[in-house]
Amino acid sequence: MTMTDTLSRPTASKTEHFDVLIVGAGISGVGGAWHLTHQSPGTSFVVLESQETFGGTWATHTYPGIRSDSDLYTFGYRFKPWIGTPIATAEEILTYMGEVIADDDLDRHIRYGHQITSASWSSQDNLWTVEATRAGTGETARFTTNFLWMCQGYYRHSKGYTPEWPGMGDYKGRIVHPQTWPQDLDYKGKSVVVIGSGATAATLVPAIAGDCGHVTLLQRSPTYFIPGRNENELADMLRELKIDETWIHEIVRRKVLHDQDLFTRRSIEEPEVVKQELLEGVKAFLGSDEAVAKDFTPSYRPWRQRIAFVPDGDLFQGITSGKASVVTDEIERFTEKGILLKSGKELAADIIVTATGFDLNVLGDIAFTIDSKPLNFADTVTYRGMMFTGVPNLIWVFGYFRASWTLRADLIGDFVCRLLNHMKTRGAKRVTPALRPQDRDMSLGPWMDPENFNPGYLMRGMHLLPKAGDKPEWRHSQDYWLEKDELPAIDLDDPAFVYE
Ligand SMILES: Cc1cc2nc3c(=O)[nH]c(=O)nc-3n(C[C@H](O)[C@H](O)[C@H](O)COP(=O)(O)OP(=O)(O)OC[C@H]3O[C@@H](n4cnc5c(N)ncnc54)[C@H](O)[C@@H]3O)c2cc1C
Repeated sequence: MTMTDTLSRPTASKTEHFDVLIVGAGISGVGGAWHLTHQSPGTSFVVLESQETFGGTWATHTYPGIRSDSDLYTFGYRFKPWIGTPIATAEEILTYMGEVIADDDLDRHIRYGHQITSASWSSQDNLWTVEATRAGTGETARFTTNFLWMCQGYYRHSKGYTPEWPGMGDYKGRIVHPQTWPQDLDYKGKSVVVIGSGATAATLVPAIAGDCGHVTLLQRSPTYFIPGRNENELADMLRELKIDETWIHEIVRRKVLHDQDLFTRRSIEEPEVVKQELLEGVKAFLGSDEAVAKDFTPSYRPWRQRIAFVPDGDLFQGITSGKASVVTDEIERFTEKGILLKSGKELAADIIVTATGFDLNVLGDIAFTIDSKPLNFADTVTYRGMMFTGVPNLIWVFGYFRASWTLRADLIGDFVCRLLNHMKTRGAKRVTPALRPQDRDMSLGPWMDPENFNPGYLMRGMHLLPKAGDKPEWRHSQDYWLEKDELPAIDLDDPAFVYE
């Protein structure tokens, strides 16, 4: 946004004040509203959301087959039982979130069509001033708040990431990114190439295979998948026994988390054994070792990137039926008719879908200042991946890669409410994380160790993210099983929190 844009925009005259301002009405922001309502009653708050509806990821993505890749017993909130199949469609997730909103009348706190553009902290007033552009009128709405709760997610919602390949301009067909799926896209009987190997590509290919002439999944390198039935035997049994849904939710959640913990630890301790098990799972659908070796045997060890669950092996069923195929190769360039590969082979396509990922968006494209100085988050050190040194009264929700995002959104919800209540008791207006004397010589590194987890969007955007230290307080451990005990036990009077 330019200065002229700012000046020419009409400004709503009234500045509204709230104790807490939540950015975004995705699963984290709606969860935040629930936690404030239940754990810090009497706190005034508003949720500002740029889109015209709640749901975030689940409203933005409308490509055929869009569904979760983790189970909803853990992706669902801990406080609202999930009663459907473990893997859910976006529509089912939106219905669930809609019920959470309705149950507590949270809608009255949410303002849709508000794109936040700036957030300025004043130490003199101990306040954030937040400006948002209202959709439709272009009017600037102004808010002040004591505390900012950032639930903006991790990628830019308006547009996905598409690499620049030579010859893209020569291609005569249509290029589509799944994040901005055109609702009028007619793929009936057409030949489609889907570029990508992640969960999106794996979901999209079987969903359109039945209608397309043929669909080819073009991947540069293979990914791990876990095929399995979209059901949870324990949940089904407990339901048969007429156990209360609240209990089922808690029991199944614990069982899923127990199994995931085991799987994660085994992936680290015995990666070769886990790798063979995963490959056997794929082979059970594809039949031959050759097919698995060629297109489904990754070179990295399990869990360095998210592993997608493939319900009922639908991706592999598409392949064995002949409606879909997989090509592992690199793109030389686009041609008029399709894609020329490095191997010399050409893939003809009427439509090319670039399921090539996201554009990392660290803080919702909001211009932050602290006492009029622009804030660069890369200059800060993170406090447990949720606060930043030198940044007062701000919490940031960044979930887990290897476990459901919402598990952390809930843990952070508990932490924020505890912190807000503590500040009230202490009569503090401001809390700012700061390195303690014993942390001053700590070695600082990137937000995430690439040896540990290295998806493309994170590698492309690492320079934008805060730094991490080598002590548990100063890094995002990505370990739910540690954090579920550590976060509730944080001593709020630790010198890492400076109150004023
Ligand atoms: C297709 C897909 C499938 C996924 N499946 C899973 C899964 O199965 N399990 C899992 O754990 N994770 C999954 N993820 C990751 C997923 O994004 C998170 O789990 C979760 O939905 C993030 O929720 P959130 O509320 O934090 O952020 P988001 O869903 O990204 O929502 C953020 C909201 O903030 C709003 N916003 C951002 N900036 C501004 C601004 N400046 N002003 C106003 N509003 C703003 C956005 O419009 C959006 O509505 C998936 C991601 C994708 C893309």
